[in-house]
Amino acid sequence: MLELREIKKDYVTSSETVSALKGVSISFRKKEFVSILGPSGCGKTTLLNIIGGLDHYTSGDLIIRGKSTKDFGEGDWDVYRNHRIGFIFQSYNLIPHQTVLGNVELALTISGVDREERIRRAKLALDRVGLAGQYYKKPNQLSGGQCQRVAIARALVNDPEILLADEPTGALDTVTSVQIMDLIREISGERLVIMVTHNPEIADQYSSRIIRLLDGRVIEDTNPFSSEDEAAESAEIIAEEERELSEATKNARSEREKKKIIKKKKEKAKMSFFTAFMLSAKNLLSKKGRTTMVGIAGSIGIIGIALVLAFSAGIKGYIASMQDDMLSGNPIEIAEMGYDLQALTGMMEADQLEEIIKEDGRIYVSSLVEYLATMGKSVETILVENDITKEYMDYVLSMPEEYYSAMLVSYGIDLNTNLYRDFYISEDSTPENLSISAITSIYSSILKETEFSDYASLISTLAPSFSQLPSNHEYILSQYELVGGGKMATEPGEIVLVLNSEDEISDLLLARFGFFTQDEFLETVYKATEDDYDKELYKNSFAYSELIGEKFTYYPNDTVFKTQSSTNPMTGAATETLTHVANSKDFEHESGSMELTVVGILTPKDTVNFGSLSAGIYYTEDFADYILDLNINEDGSYTEHTDGFFSYINSINESVPAQFALMSYYFSYQYEYTYDADKNDGKDATPTTATGYITPPMNMSDMMGSMSGAMGGMGGMGGSSESASFDHSDMKERLYRAYGGINIANNVRVYPKSFDDKDLVTNYLDRWNDDTLTLTVGGAEFAPEDRTDVTYTDSLELIVSMINTMIDVISYALIAFTSVSLVVSTVMIGIITFVSVVERIKEIGVIRSLGGRKKDVSHLFNAETFIIGLLAGLIGIGATYLISFIVNLILKPLIGYAHIAALPISNAILLVLLSIGLTLISGLIPAKSAANRDPVVALRTE
Ligand code: ADP
Ligand code: MG
Repeated sequence: MLELREIKKDYVTSSETVSALKGVSISFRKKEFVSILGPSGCGKTTLLNIIGGLDHYTSGDLIIRGKSTKDFGEGDWDVYRNHRIGFIFQSYNLIPHQTVLGNVELALTISGVDREERIRRAKLALDRVGLAGQYYKKPNQLSGGQCQRVAIARALVNDPEILLADEPTGALDTVTSVQIMDLIREISGERLVIMVTHNPEIADQYSSRIIRLLDGRVIEDTNPFSSEDEAAESAEIIAEEERELSEATKNARSEREKKKIIKKKKEKAKMSFFTAFMLSAKNLLSKKGRTTMVGIAGSIGIIGIALVLAFSAGIKGYIASMQDDMLSGNPIEIAEMGYDLQALTGMMEADQLEEIIKEDGRIYVSSLVEYLATMGKSVETILVENDITKEYMDYVLSMPEEYYSAMLVSYGIDLNTNLYRDFYISEDSTPENLSISAITSIYSSILKETEFSDYASLISTLAPSFSQLPSNHEYILSQYELVGGGKMATEPGEIVLVLNSEDEISDLLLARFGFFTQDEFLETVYKATEDDYDKELYKNSFAYSELIGEKFTYYPNDTVFKTQSSTNPMTGAATETLTHVANSKDFEHESGSMELTVVGILTPKDTVNFGSLSAGIYYTEDFADYILDLNINEDGSYTEHTDGFFSYINSINESVPAQFALMSYYFSYQYEYTYDADKNDGKDATPTTATGYITPPMNMSDMMGSMSGAMGGMGGMGGSSESASFDHSDMKERLYRAYGGINIANNVRVYPKSFDDKDLVTNYLDRWNDDTLTLTVGGAEFAPEDRTDVTYTDSLELIVSMINTMIDVISYALIAFTSVSLVVSTVMIGIITFVSVVERIKEIGVIRSLGGRKKDVSHLFNAETFIIGLLAGLIGIGATYLISFIVNLILKPLIGYAHIAALPISNAILLVLLSIGLTLISGLIPAKSAANRDPVVALRTE
């Protein structure tokens, strides 16, 4: 059955070489009870471990059934241990977190027996050792004798041919020892039992053969078995096995089936990853508290990253959800002065000034001039002056209508000097019919008396009061609701009042429209500046009916402007000055006037955050056409309604100093009002005269323009007179525009159907700038050289991409930041796994002694880290969704969006995988070290 030939074993340590066995030769019978006796340290355990295949001999040979084991590999030893050997140890070596049944099952688990069969056989083995009904106890609930019974059941469950017992009663009292020895003797009837003991009485009483060892050598064998007899016995066993096999395969119908049966007989020790997983799950379950803590600790890094991703995705989603909405407030704009947004992004990373190497002991000049010149240059590259020609407008207007919802073609007309409205001092006074500019002046001079007079002049620049409606009324009505029973303005003489989303319109705007009486406005000022104001007169809301039906009258330029003789204040010479007549009773009512009536009030729908219109009064495209037609004849000349005005403007030239040219638009009118700066001390302020100027409309791009001009001027500081001169043609151009003298649009806004359809519009507009295309506009062909590039402004694209880039950058930074905690938790899990390896070192030894492969051991720990990683990932994701849910609940009423933290499922899955991956990696080294533990050392460890 088993033969040892000249077995030698040397333990090589750093200091010395210990010869534990010095040439041991023994043959064992198939069935016998052998006791090995000898003093401590004589090599008994070493011998047993070598027989059991746990430890390997240094020289000699171990012959199993006539076969040498010299060429045995790791796997062969594993199979040998699993199928032929049962181990019983002095210290039982039970796995504390497994039940009695689980401990016994383990040997079968390792050989890959399925669950039902495992349980059946394990129970059978337990019944046999007298532990029926104790299956589900934990080892720490058993007495020492019972523990050893469990260990015996575990050794027997695989029905091994050889049972190895290393001082099985060493830790037991006499009575229990007897019981255990009886049990072992009973077992020995069927197999070879080799028991190590230092108790000669037990050896004498129970065994059929006693071998004495001393100092690594056999000194006595009471019942020797010769090497020849052993060989004969082995041959017999093999022959018998072959007979059995041919018996078993006799009924096999095919060669394949035969192979299957043979293969089944030679089953290898193999434990599936799933089994390892279940074993580890059981182990982790037995340490619930600790496992949970590790899971939570491991999840912190995941929570950090998941939250960053959740917010980044949520905010992007929020922006995406608003894109279409934002589009109405940020249409694609073509203006005379455009911004090249690409250049703007370029400027942000503008070239740094050249660095010079500084020596000690010198004073260096910082180049402010160079800096300004560079700045000026970059400002100039951002601002693009567009030449909007009639042809270009024709091209824009022939854009397919399905590309856009609405278009706003505007001509830069300023109505403030031409629109007149009844102005009341008080509710019951007789009204004067004043121009909007005059009413504005009255109110700004009232405000000039107050403590915030410095800001008073801002009134007229605050908001454009009268604007044009985009072409498509349905588009507007898709965003705005008509309230107060009015209608949409469709005729030239119809205007609408637009409110903001709070159903408001500012007091200053209402004042400019003349909707406040002077007295009411004064109360508004008093309320803001003093404690004392007249609550009766103070007005903070209007009924719809108060505003619907209100009227304005438009008068042509030549009606409202009259030339007057005056003296040039600089030269003293007589000169012609253009005067605006502020009160309609002071001019003759010539033809061409038009009455404008407020026919409706529009307020943004609840679903709209960014409407296409800001609060104010809006007129129709037809009214703009009316003014242009009123001013300009078919042949381009000016009509009788305006030619006086425009020929005056045309007469402004270089000989008139710039400042004076502006002064010449000076107009004056007188209107009395009373502002009581200190109501309480009863003194009345003296009536004041209000005066005003015609200010050509100034917008943002004009301001940028003059800025770049100033910067440019800095570049050539030598020609100072030149830089101070005033650009008359630019000034004139602006006045022509403001008074309806140019019928080519200066601003076009295209409202695409949706954010995704925006490309249709921009692609169409890009084609104008494409040097390879010849375009056909209204039947006429346009070669690339006939066109000049027009730069449109797609601010939404820039806004969205800038926000998204910003979110990305912030997210990356935050992820990098939170990754630190992920690294920390990964390292921590590695350490915990290592601790677990140290804690489970006994278990590792037991598994190996039962035939478990190195792989099985590493599987076990990998399964453990896998579970912890999964747990950490799931806790992290769960916590993130919980936090997101709460955050969304809190933020929804504030921002009206329910998914500001929204971790995409794909990201969640990826993060769980990341968590598993990282913990697996962190556990790899501990798992590997566990697998490589020497089982002998592992079992010797207490
Ligand atoms: P016994 O079981 O008879 O008490 P062992 O077989 O455990 O004796 O030990 C035999 C000898 O080998 C002892 O001297 C012991 O110190 C030595 N020995 C056992 N294992 C090792 C090892 N891993 N490294 C070094 N020496 C060892
Ligand atoms: Mg020993």
